[in-house]
Amino acid sequence: MSLQTVPKDLRNLRACLLCSLVKTIEQFEFDGCDNCEEYLHMKGNRDVVYDCTSSNFDGLIAMISPEDSWVAKWQRTERFVRGCYAVSVTGRLPPGVIRNLRAQNIEYRLRDTSQKS
Ligand SMILES: [Zn+2]
Repeated sequence: MSLQTVPKDLRNLRACLLCSLVKTIEQFEFDGCDNCEEYLHMKGNRDVVYDCTSSNFDGLIAMISPEDSWVAKWQRTERFVRGCYAVSVTGRLPPGVIRNLRAQNIEYRLRDTSQKS
């Protein structure tokens, strides 16, 4: 079992705005988002990392076995990689990124559960 998705330290943590995966900014820059890289292309591009992740998030869930975790089902992350996920992420993807996702039939759901909109 790989634990590369687990943050190596607790500084510079950011949460992916698309899937809520939490890693350090360096991990996002070096590896991209393990769930969304094919859509967001963060790898090697710190500007995109800043655009597509947020440092403003609440709660942390460590997800070890997404297949049978009720928390994962609750958070709708059951198909994602093992790792740490934020419960709520504040912020939204840039409009151009959302348009790209829509073009690929990816439904973008705001990860901010702290407010109803
Ligand atoms: Zn992601």
